[in-house]
Amino acid sequence: MTIAAWPASQQAWERTKASLGGGVSTGLRASMKPHPIFFQGGQGPRLTDLDGNTYLDYVLGWGPVILGHGHPGLTEAVSRQLPLGATYGSGHLLEAEVAEKVLARIPGTERVLWSNTGSEATQVALRLARAATGRHRFVKFTGHYHGWSDTMLVGYRPGPDGSLGLGSLGQNPAAMEDLALVTWGDLEATADLLKAPDSDIAAVFCEPVLCNSGVLAPPLGFLQGLRDLCDATGTILVFDEVITGFRIGSGGAVTRYGVTPDLVVLAKAIAGGYPLAAVAGRAEIIDRTTKGVVHAGTYNGNPVVLAAGSATLDALAEPDVYEDFERRGTALADGMRAALARHGVPSTVHQVGPVVQCIAGVENADSFDAFLAADQEFYDRLGVQMLRRGVFTLPGGRWYLSTAHSDADIAQTVAVFDESLAATLS
Ligand code: PLP
Repeated sequence: MTIAAWPASQQAWERTKASLGGGVSTGLRASMKPHPIFFQGGQGPRLTDLDGNTYLDYVLGWGPVILGHGHPGLTEAVSRQLPLGATYGSGHLLEAEVAEKVLARIPGTERVLWSNTGSEATQVALRLARAATGRHRFVKFTGHYHGWSDTMLVGYRPGPDGSLGLGSLGQNPAAMEDLALVTWGDLEATADLLKAPDSDIAAVFCEPVLCNSGVLAPPLGFLQGLRDLCDATGTILVFDEVITGFRIGSGGAVTRYGVTPDLVVLAKAIAGGYPLAAVAGRAEIIDRTTKGVVHAGTYNGNPVVLAAGSATLDALAEPDVYEDFERRGTALADGMRAALARHGVPSTVHQVGPVVQCIAGVENADSFDAFLAADQEFYDRLGVQMLRRGVFTLPGGRWYLSTAHSDADIAQTVAVFDESLAATLS
């Protein structure tokens, strides 16, 4: 049985547009096809919408819901904290308890700073790098996303003027001068910039796996090459692990690829859906917050959110979590590849642990440019066909798995993907 329409969601969408800027709480959510679906709740890997339809969820709140919805350990930890109050405006021991868990898992980290969102945490990472080096500019790779701040939202997608520069109307144009844009994987261009006497580069920022633009794994030796260049030039290497942290390995990209940056930015998976973010790294850099570098935030270190972080990290430390992610991610990616081939759709499917990317319309898509050339119109139609068959996915082709998705869920999803391809092509 397929879903023909979503009357309750449509009605909700009409109502919310009258009171809420954009009708849902981010512009990206507003762009979901055929229109945003409104949900009443979720359990495990499934979400139920206002019309009573249930979906296997591969959106997972755009990444953070790594344990699935309503995870008992996470729910219990948050419930235990709730009656104890929302925030104290001073110290409490959960701040250190969760920091200790982070430090134990990510090699090379000695201190943690708590923030609320990835966008805030990348800002403080940049500020620390500037303070530590006395330099101002930073290297950013095209297609990498480090949040929506004026400083960071550059060179991510073609912006309002069609160029790969500023990402938003109203953004400070000076942001263009603060950074140097480089192609992901181009070590030579990075070296030229870092070694130029007047380049003034404080930091190199990267998503160690380019999850936001194609789930492109780093070319062999590239992360180590960045590490060596940063060592040689006294530049701070920042891994933005907002997506990859605690997801593609127990210590994220740091343990998966064996390269230790100076600072790691964390968010999303760290607290299972609650708004927690962090910068972790060397004490010498992070302790600058006691020596003039401002790191502020009313909600930093919020105890409810840290209770969620503690429970999430415990659940992710259970045996076989990452082996299961790998096996199920591979099964999903292989199943998608087989279905796309059977239907004769030129495409690329990338997978790193529990993150999968389908790039329709482009074979061997191994660059940001190839990702941009994907047939989004086709993928949008495919996404709606999957939604009609009870599989909820992100626009743009990225899929996230949670620990709650079973092998049987993946097999069912591959069958739905195949049927949905047939329907899209008919
Ligand atoms: N960095 C990366 C790699 C991200 O994927 C995101 C968000 O998707 C951010 C930073 C910004 O995080 P937030 O949305 O929590 O501000």
